[in-house]
Amino acid sequence: MSTVQTIRGPIDSSQLGRTLSHEHLTTGAIGMERLPWVYNEDDCVNAGIDALRRARAAGVDSILDLTPLDLGRQPSMFQRVAAADTGVNVVCATGVYRWVPSYFFGMDPDDIADHFLREIRDGIEGTPIRPGIIKIAWDLEYRLADGPNPASTPRANLERTARGAARAAKAGGVPISCHTLATDELGTPLLDIFEDEGLDLRAVTIGHSNDSSNLDYLKGIAARGANVGLDRFGTRRTQEELDRRCQLALDLAQAGYAEQVCLGHDGSPYGRFGAGRTTTTDCWLPVPQIEVPWLLAHGASQDDVDAMQRRSIRATFEAAAAMAGGAAK
Ligand SMILES: [Zn+2]
Repeated sequence: MSTVQTIRGPIDSSQLGRTLSHEHLTTGAIGMERLPWVYNEDDCVNAGIDALRRARAAGVDSILDLTPLDLGRQPSMFQRVAAADTGVNVVCATGVYRWVPSYFFGMDPDDIADHFLREIRDGIEGTPIRPGIIKIAWDLEYRLADGPNPASTPRANLERTARGAARAAKAGGVPISCHTLATDELGTPLLDIFEDEGLDLRAVTIGHSNDSSNLDYLKGIAARGANVGLDRFGTRRTQEELDRRCQLALDLAQAGYAEQVCLGHDGSPYGRFGAGRTTTTDCWLPVPQIEVPWLLAHGASQDDVDAMQRRSIRATFEAAAAMAGGAAK
Protein backbone atom coordinates (compact mmCIF):
# COMPACT_ATOMS: atom_id res chain seq x y z
CA MET A 1 0.00 0.00 0.00
CA SER A 2 1.09 3.57 -0.56
CA THR A 3 -0.33 7.07 -0.52
CA VAL A 4 -1.79 8.44 -3.74
CA GLN A 5 -2.57 12.15 -4.05
CA THR A 6 -5.93 13.05 -5.61
CA ILE A 7 -7.60 16.40 -6.20
CA ARG A 8 -9.54 15.79 -2.94
CA GLY A 9 -6.43 14.87 -0.99
CA PRO A 10 -4.50 11.69 -0.25
CA ILE A 11 -5.96 8.19 -0.48
CA ASP A 12 -4.40 4.78 -0.05
CA SER A 13 -3.44 2.94 -3.23
CA SER A 14 -5.84 0.16 -2.18
CA GLN A 15 -8.70 2.65 -2.69
CA LEU A 16 -7.96 3.22 -6.39
CA GLY A 17 -10.23 0.37 -7.48
CA ARG A 18 -11.20 0.24 -11.14
CA THR A 19 -8.97 2.89 -12.70
CA LEU A 20 -8.97 4.53 -16.13
CA SER A 21 -5.31 5.07 -16.78
CA HIS A 22 -5.22 8.07 -19.14
CA GLU A 23 -7.96 10.71 -19.28
CA HIS A 24 -8.43 14.48 -19.22
CA LEU A 25 -11.15 16.54 -17.54
CA THR A 26 -10.10 19.11 -20.10
CA THR A 27 -7.25 19.29 -22.56
CA GLY A 28 -6.01 21.99 -24.89
CA ALA A 29 -3.21 24.47 -24.36
CA ILE A 30 -1.69 26.67 -21.72
CA GLY A 31 -3.54 29.98 -21.45
CA MET A 32 -6.78 28.76 -23.01
CA GLU A 33 -8.69 29.86 -19.91
CA ARG A 34 -7.96 33.45 -20.96
CA LEU A 35 -9.87 32.95 -24.21
CA PRO A 36 -13.60 32.80 -23.47
CA TRP A 37 -14.36 31.57 -26.97
CA VAL A 38 -12.16 28.52 -26.33
CA TYR A 39 -12.71 27.65 -22.68
CA ASN A 40 -15.53 28.28 -20.22
CA GLU A 41 -14.91 27.04 -16.71
CA ASP A 42 -18.57 26.64 -15.75
CA ASP A 43 -19.15 24.44 -18.79
CA CYS A 44 -15.98 22.44 -18.07
CA VAL A 45 -16.93 21.89 -14.43
CA ASN A 46 -20.46 20.79 -15.32
CA ALA A 47 -19.28 18.43 -18.06
CA GLY A 48 -16.61 16.97 -15.79
CA ILE A 49 -18.99 16.30 -12.92
CA ASP A 50 -21.55 14.75 -15.26
CA ALA A 51 -18.94 12.53 -16.94
CA LEU A 52 -17.49 11.41 -13.61
CA ARG A 53 -20.96 10.52 -12.31
CA ARG A 54 -21.67 8.51 -15.47
CA ALA A 55 -18.34 6.73 -15.10
CA ARG A 56 -19.08 6.00 -11.44
CA ALA A 57 -22.44 4.49 -12.42
CA ALA A 58 -20.53 2.25 -14.86
CA GLY A 59 -18.25 1.02 -12.07
CA VAL A 60 -15.25 3.34 -12.47
CA ASP A 61 -13.59 4.26 -9.16
CA SER A 62 -10.64 6.42 -10.29
CA ILE A 63 -9.26 8.28 -13.28
CA LEU A 64 -5.78 9.56 -13.95
CA ASP A 65 -6.02 13.07 -15.44
CA LEU A 66 -2.81 13.37 -17.43
CA THR A 67 -2.92 17.07 -18.22
CA PRO A 68 0.23 18.99 -17.30
CA LEU A 69 0.30 22.80 -17.26
CA ASP A 70 1.20 23.19 -20.92
CA LEU A 71 -1.70 20.97 -22.01
CA GLY A 72 -4.24 23.26 -20.36
CA ARG A 73 -4.42 22.03 -16.76
CA GLN A 74 -6.99 24.05 -14.75
CA PRO A 75 -6.52 23.95 -10.95
CA SER A 76 -9.62 26.05 -10.13
CA MET A 77 -11.70 23.63 -12.20
CA PHE A 78 -10.18 20.72 -10.24
CA GLN A 79 -11.17 22.44 -6.98
CA ARG A 80 -14.77 22.84 -8.11
CA VAL A 81 -15.00 19.26 -9.38
CA ALA A 82 -13.46 18.02 -6.13
CA ALA A 83 -16.12 19.87 -4.14
CA ALA A 84 -18.88 18.03 -6.03
CA ASP A 85 -18.09 14.62 -4.53
CA THR A 86 -18.69 12.49 -7.63
CA GLY A 87 -17.42 9.33 -5.96
CA VAL A 88 -14.57 9.03 -8.48
CA ASN A 89 -10.98 9.68 -7.40
CA VAL A 90 -9.17 12.04 -9.77
CA VAL A 91 -5.36 11.95 -9.78
CA CYS A 92 -3.84 14.97 -11.52
CA ALA A 93 -0.41 15.38 -13.06
CA THR A 94 2.71 17.45 -13.14
CA GLY A 95 5.06 17.02 -16.06
CA VAL A 96 5.38 18.39 -19.56
CA TYR A 97 3.72 17.76 -22.90
CA ARG A 98 5.35 17.02 -26.26
CA TRP A 99 6.15 20.65 -27.27
CA VAL A 100 8.59 21.32 -24.47
CA PRO A 101 7.99 24.95 -23.34
CA SER A 102 10.89 27.34 -23.72
CA TYR A 103 11.35 27.87 -20.00
CA PHE A 104 12.77 24.33 -19.91
CA PHE A 105 15.38 25.12 -22.60
CA GLY A 106 18.89 24.89 -21.24
CA MET A 107 17.71 23.35 -17.96
CA ASP A 108 19.61 20.25 -16.98
CA PRO A 109 17.66 17.18 -15.81
CA ASP A 110 18.13 18.04 -12.13
CA ASP A 111 16.60 21.49 -12.69
CA ILE A 112 13.66 19.87 -14.49
CA ALA A 113 13.26 17.34 -11.66
CA ASP A 114 13.21 20.20 -9.14
CA HIS A 115 10.50 21.90 -11.18
CA PHE A 116 8.32 18.77 -11.07
CA LEU A 117 9.12 18.11 -7.39
CA ARG A 118 8.06 21.63 -6.45
CA GLU A 119 4.56 20.82 -7.72
CA ILE A 120 4.57 17.30 -6.26
CA ARG A 121 5.45 18.60 -2.79
CA ASP A 122 3.80 22.06 -2.65
CA GLY A 123 0.79 21.72 -4.95
CA ILE A 124 -0.06 23.08 -8.37
CA GLU A 125 -0.23 26.75 -9.21
CA GLY A 126 -0.76 28.07 -5.71
CA THR A 127 -3.43 25.52 -4.73
CA PRO A 128 -3.07 22.75 -2.17
CA ILE A 129 -3.81 20.17 -4.90
CA ARG A 130 -0.82 17.87 -5.22
CA PRO A 131 -0.21 15.90 -8.40
CA GLY A 132 -0.01 12.15 -7.98
CA ILE A 133 1.80 11.36 -11.20
CA ILE A 134 4.28 12.75 -13.74
CA LYS A 135 3.26 12.96 -17.39
CA ILE A 136 5.67 13.25 -20.29
CA ALA A 137 5.06 12.98 -24.02
CA TRP A 138 7.26 11.65 -26.78
CA ASP A 139 5.76 12.10 -30.22
CA LEU A 140 6.82 13.14 -33.73
CA GLU A 141 9.18 15.76 -32.31
CA TYR A 142 11.50 12.92 -31.28
CA ARG A 143 12.36 12.53 -34.97
CA LEU A 144 13.96 16.00 -34.96
CA ALA A 145 17.48 15.24 -33.86
CA ASP A 146 19.49 17.41 -36.26
CA GLY A 147 20.32 21.04 -35.69
CA PRO A 148 23.12 23.57 -35.31
CA ASN A 149 23.19 22.84 -31.59
CA PRO A 150 22.70 19.15 -30.80
CA ALA A 151 21.79 20.01 -27.21
CA SER A 152 18.77 22.05 -28.24
CA THR A 153 17.00 19.84 -30.75
CA PRO A 154 13.45 18.73 -30.00
CA ARG A 155 14.78 15.22 -29.32
CA ALA A 156 17.37 16.52 -26.87
CA ASN A 157 14.68 18.48 -25.05
CA LEU A 158 12.49 15.37 -24.78
CA GLU A 159 15.41 13.32 -23.51
CA ARG A 160 16.19 15.87 -20.81
CA THR A 161 12.56 15.98 -19.67
CA ALA A 162 12.52 12.19 -19.45
CA ARG A 163 15.65 12.23 -17.27
CA GLY A 164 14.12 14.98 -15.14
CA ALA A 165 10.91 12.98 -14.79
CA ALA A 166 12.86 9.88 -13.75
CA ARG A 167 14.78 11.78 -11.07
CA ALA A 168 11.60 13.44 -9.76
CA ALA A 169 9.79 10.08 -9.69
CA LYS A 170 12.57 8.52 -7.65
CA ALA A 171 12.80 11.40 -5.19
CA GLY A 172 9.08 12.10 -4.94
CA GLY A 173 7.79 8.54 -5.04
CA VAL A 174 5.30 9.08 -7.86
CA PRO A 175 4.90 7.08 -11.06
CA ILE A 176 5.41 8.30 -14.63
CA SER A 177 2.89 7.98 -17.44
CA CYS A 178 4.09 8.56 -20.97
CA HIS A 179 2.23 9.64 -24.06
CA THR A 180 4.17 7.90 -26.83
CA LEU A 181 3.94 7.73 -30.60
CA ALA A 182 3.37 3.99 -30.61
CA THR A 183 3.75 3.59 -34.37
CA ASP A 184 7.35 4.83 -33.96
CA GLU A 185 7.73 2.45 -30.97
CA LEU A 186 9.08 5.25 -28.81
CA GLY A 187 8.52 3.26 -25.63
CA THR A 188 11.79 1.46 -26.33
CA PRO A 189 14.21 4.43 -26.29
CA LEU A 190 12.23 5.98 -23.44
CA LEU A 191 12.62 2.90 -21.26
CA ASP A 192 16.34 2.89 -22.17
CA ILE A 193 16.67 6.35 -20.62
CA PHE A 194 14.64 5.41 -17.54
CA GLU A 195 16.79 2.32 -17.09
CA ASP A 196 19.93 4.43 -17.43
CA GLU A 197 18.53 6.69 -14.67
CA GLY A 198 18.07 3.68 -12.38
CA LEU A 199 14.29 3.98 -12.34
CA ASP A 200 12.21 0.94 -11.37
CA LEU A 201 10.37 0.42 -14.65
CA ARG A 202 7.37 -1.00 -12.79
CA ALA A 203 6.59 2.64 -11.94
CA VAL A 204 6.24 3.51 -15.64
CA THR A 205 3.30 3.29 -18.06
CA ILE A 206 4.04 3.46 -21.78
CA GLY A 207 0.82 4.98 -23.02
CA HIS A 208 -1.10 5.03 -26.27
CA SER A 209 0.38 1.63 -26.97
CA ASN A 210 -2.80 0.36 -28.61
CA ASP A 211 -2.09 2.73 -31.50
CA SER A 212 0.47 0.03 -32.40
CA SER A 213 -0.45 -3.37 -33.81
CA ASN A 214 2.97 -4.87 -33.13
CA LEU A 215 2.35 -7.37 -30.35
CA ASP A 216 6.07 -8.14 -30.06
CA TYR A 217 6.80 -4.48 -29.34
CA LEU A 218 4.13 -4.39 -26.63
CA LYS A 219 5.27 -7.66 -25.06
CA GLY A 220 8.79 -6.23 -25.02
CA ILE A 221 7.63 -3.26 -22.95
CA ALA A 222 5.95 -5.57 -20.45
CA ALA A 223 8.93 -7.93 -20.35
CA ARG A 224 11.08 -5.02 -19.14
CA GLY A 225 8.66 -4.48 -16.24
CA ALA A 226 6.71 -1.45 -17.45
CA ASN A 227 2.97 -1.13 -17.86
CA VAL A 228 1.47 -1.19 -21.34
CA GLY A 229 -1.14 1.56 -21.57
CA LEU A 230 -3.96 0.44 -23.86
CA ASP A 231 -5.45 3.83 -23.26
CA ARG A 232 -7.00 4.97 -26.49
CA PHE A 233 -10.49 3.59 -26.89
CA GLY A 234 -13.63 5.44 -27.89
CA THR A 235 -16.74 5.18 -29.96
CA ARG A 236 -15.51 7.61 -32.61
CA ARG A 237 -13.46 4.68 -33.91
CA THR A 238 -14.87 2.03 -36.25
CA GLN A 239 -16.15 -1.24 -34.83
CA GLU A 240 -13.31 -3.02 -36.63
CA GLU A 241 -10.77 -0.78 -34.92
CA LEU A 242 -12.39 -1.23 -31.51
CA ASP A 243 -12.30 -5.00 -32.04
CA ARG A 244 -8.59 -4.79 -32.92
CA ARG A 245 -7.90 -2.86 -29.72
CA CYS A 246 -9.88 -5.39 -27.63
CA GLN A 247 -8.00 -8.24 -29.28
CA LEU A 248 -4.68 -6.62 -28.38
CA ALA A 249 -5.68 -6.54 -24.69
CA LEU A 250 -6.75 -10.18 -24.90
CA ASP A 251 -3.50 -11.19 -26.63
CA LEU A 252 -1.41 -9.53 -23.92
CA ALA A 253 -3.48 -11.17 -21.19
CA GLN A 254 -3.10 -14.56 -22.85
CA ALA A 255 0.65 -13.96 -23.12
CA GLY A 256 0.67 -13.62 -19.32
CA TYR A 257 0.88 -9.84 -19.07
CA ALA A 258 -2.55 -8.88 -17.72
CA GLU A 259 -0.94 -7.48 -14.55
CA GLN A 260 0.90 -4.96 -16.75
CA VAL A 261 -1.92 -3.83 -18.97
CA CYS A 262 -4.00 -0.78 -18.10
CA LEU A 263 -7.06 0.54 -19.87
CA GLY A 264 -8.34 4.00 -20.68
CA HIS A 265 -9.76 6.24 -23.40
CA ASP A 266 -7.59 9.39 -23.64
CA GLY A 267 -11.04 10.94 -23.50
CA SER A 268 -12.33 14.27 -22.28
CA PRO A 269 -15.86 15.51 -21.61
CA TYR A 270 -14.70 19.06 -22.38
CA GLY A 271 -11.79 18.66 -24.79
CA ARG A 272 -10.41 21.81 -26.35
CA PHE A 273 -7.63 20.03 -28.24
CA GLY A 274 -7.74 20.93 -31.92
CA ALA A 275 -10.66 20.89 -34.30
CA GLY A 276 -11.88 17.47 -33.19
CA ARG A 277 -13.04 18.75 -29.83
CA THR A 278 -14.96 16.13 -27.93
CA THR A 279 -17.89 17.21 -25.84
CA THR A 280 -19.60 13.97 -24.84
CA THR A 281 -19.95 13.21 -21.17
CA ASP A 282 -20.13 9.51 -22.12
CA CYS A 283 -16.41 9.59 -22.94
CA TRP A 284 -15.44 7.26 -20.08
CA LEU A 285 -18.01 4.53 -20.73
CA PRO A 286 -16.55 2.53 -23.67
CA VAL A 287 -13.99 0.66 -21.54
CA PRO A 288 -16.47 -0.55 -18.91
CA GLN A 289 -19.37 -0.98 -21.33
CA ILE A 290 -17.70 -2.25 -24.54
CA GLU A 291 -14.13 -3.42 -23.94
CA VAL A 292 -14.55 -5.30 -20.67
CA PRO A 293 -17.67 -7.22 -21.82
CA TRP A 294 -15.84 -8.02 -25.10
CA LEU A 295 -12.84 -9.39 -23.19
CA LEU A 296 -14.99 -11.55 -20.93
CA ALA A 297 -16.95 -12.85 -23.94
CA HIS A 298 -13.76 -13.77 -25.83
CA GLY A 299 -11.95 -15.78 -23.19
CA ALA A 300 -10.41 -13.36 -20.70
CA SER A 301 -11.03 -14.31 -17.08
CA GLN A 302 -12.51 -11.96 -14.50
CA ASP A 303 -9.09 -12.09 -12.82
CA ASP A 304 -7.45 -10.86 -16.06
CA VAL A 305 -9.91 -7.97 -16.16
CA ASP A 306 -9.30 -7.16 -12.50
CA ALA A 307 -5.56 -7.13 -13.20
CA MET A 308 -6.04 -4.68 -16.08
CA GLN A 309 -8.59 -2.46 -14.32
CA ARG A 310 -7.59 -2.63 -10.66
CA ARG A 311 -4.06 -3.92 -10.10
CA SER A 312 -1.77 -2.70 -12.89
CA ILE A 313 -2.02 1.03 -12.16
CA ARG A 314 -2.04 0.49 -8.41
CA ALA A 315 1.25 -1.39 -8.81
CA THR A 316 2.87 1.61 -10.54
CA PHE A 317 2.04 3.83 -7.56
CA GLU A 318 3.37 1.27 -5.09
CA ALA A 319 6.59 0.68 -7.07
CA ALA A 320 7.16 4.44 -7.25
CA ALA A 321 6.56 4.93 -3.54
CA ALA A 322 8.97 2.11 -2.76
CA MET A 323 11.73 3.92 -4.67
CA ALA A 324 11.32 6.93 -2.39
CA GLY A 325 11.53 4.83 0.74
CA GLY A 326 8.07 3.38 1.06
CA ALA A 327 5.77 6.35 0.77
CA ALA A 328 5.17 9.20 -1.60
CA LYS A 329 6.76 12.26 -0.04
ZN1 LIG B 1 -3.93 12.20 -23.31
